Amino acid sequence: MSEKTPGELLKDKLIMGKKHAGLTLEDAQIDASFAFCEDYKAFLDLAKTEREAVKEAVRLATEAGFSEYSADVQYAPGDKIYSINRGKAAVFAVIGQHPIDEGARIIAAHIDSPRLDLKPNPLYEDSEFALFKTHYYGGIKKYQWVTLPLALHGTVIKKDGTKADIVIGEDDADPCFVVTDLLPHLSTEQNKKTLAEAFKGENLNILIGSLPFKDDKVSDRVKLRIMQLLHEKYGFTESDFISAEIEAVPRHKASDIGFDRSMIGAYGHDDRVCAYPALRAALDCEAPLFTIVTVLADKEEVGSDGNTGLHSRFLNNFISDLALSQGTEGYRALSRSLCLSADVNVGHDPNFPDVLEKNNAARLGYGAVITKYTGSRGKGDTSDASAEYIGRIRKLFEDAGVLWQTGELGRVDLGGGGTVAKYLANLDIDVVDIGVPVLSMHSPFEVVSKLDVKAAYDAFAAFYGKEF
Ligand code: MN
Ligand code: MN
Repeated sequence: MSEKTPGELLKDKLIMGKKHAGLTLEDAQIDASFAFCEDYKAFLDLAKTEREAVKEAVRLATEAGFSEYSADVQYAPGDKIYSINRGKAAVFAVIGQHPIDEGARIIAAHIDSPRLDLKPNPLYEDSEFALFKTHYYGGIKKYQWVTLPLALHGTVIKKDGTKADIVIGEDDADPCFVVTDLLPHLSTEQNKKTLAEAFKGENLNILIGSLPFKDDKVSDRVKLRIMQLLHEKYGFTESDFISAEIEAVPRHKASDIGFDRSMIGAYGHDDRVCAYPALRAALDCEAPLFTIVTVLADKEEVGSDGNTGLHSRFLNNFISDLALSQGTEGYRALSRSLCLSADVNVGHDPNFPDVLEKNNAARLGYGAVITKYTGSRGKGDTSDASAEYIGRIRKLFEDAGVLWQTGELGRVDLGGGGTVAKYLANLDIDVVDIGVPVLSMHSPFEVVSKLDVKAAYDAFAAFYGKEF
């Protein structure tokens, strides 16, 4: 083997040389990434909504020895607890050896994803079809939601106060639902419009039936027959939709992508691809030095407002209760805490190379992405992590052998977006965004690399398990 030239040696020493993880990982490590992702895919298929994600996360946590938090219990180091916020958000914590006065280690991810919500009064009949009116949730490109097989997931509080959870369209034997689109033969006018004009939110109406109830005397017979079926099966009457949250989500299951099976296509990677590894890191964490807290939040896709979003006092209250039980103030524990805001970033897509600036673009297969700031315009609406904090985190990752890269949410002034990071930073916590790069983000079928999913888990496990 020829010796390295002085230039090569200097380059090794001074110049960054990130490589595709597929080049540097042992085969056994690649196998471990693929195996981890089998569990992740199972989680995806069971957890298409925030409520289902909470349910499945609590089931996994219970299996791992977690029990429900009670303010009346004095917890000891190593105790594993969870607390559910209104069925739509949750925290999972392991009490640290050090008092919480010295701060916690927090990883926050979100479990809501863009979708079509049913309106409060959704059911109507038009031209002898029964349909549901919807109001889209989160940032969607509306054209992606037409001619897409949909399942309905939700919770209905009936007139008598009883609760019914429904999932229709996931089982192969189930029917599914769809928003129709115009045939190309007659789309001359539609084709002239911009995407925003051609696909209107008010037109995202879901087709749910076409057979009339046999009675010439009544009107809206198709609607009536649908209501008859819903009443027979679930005991619903039309007014029950008012006290319901029903979400239309893509029916498809998570699938491997590519001949090499190196990627996963699924609905809702944003942000289950961070939520699941963050949960697993908490479940796998034994006797941590500092109290560790995995937060699975709702409402991120609509700005984190509301009592299940991270702009609420939910996390603050949980930490404050733990602090109080250990004889200190919540604000002290918070201000000494460190946090990873675990959320996805955009990955370089060869079909759309121009939206990212190549020196600061995340790439699939290069590991977990550290994102210093999100936001838009001149770093508006972002918390912008400090040099000191990123310095600590990158040293942690280097020391622990975590695969990581950096990313930015697109070229300057091209658009932008946010995460929960700023809400945590506003609590006086050090926080930086870290997550998994995604292709087709917010579409019904997002794509991630299996190596990056495992890298995110490794990053979170190091954050909880290592001293830094
Ligand atoms: Mn997200
Ligand atoms: Mn998102």
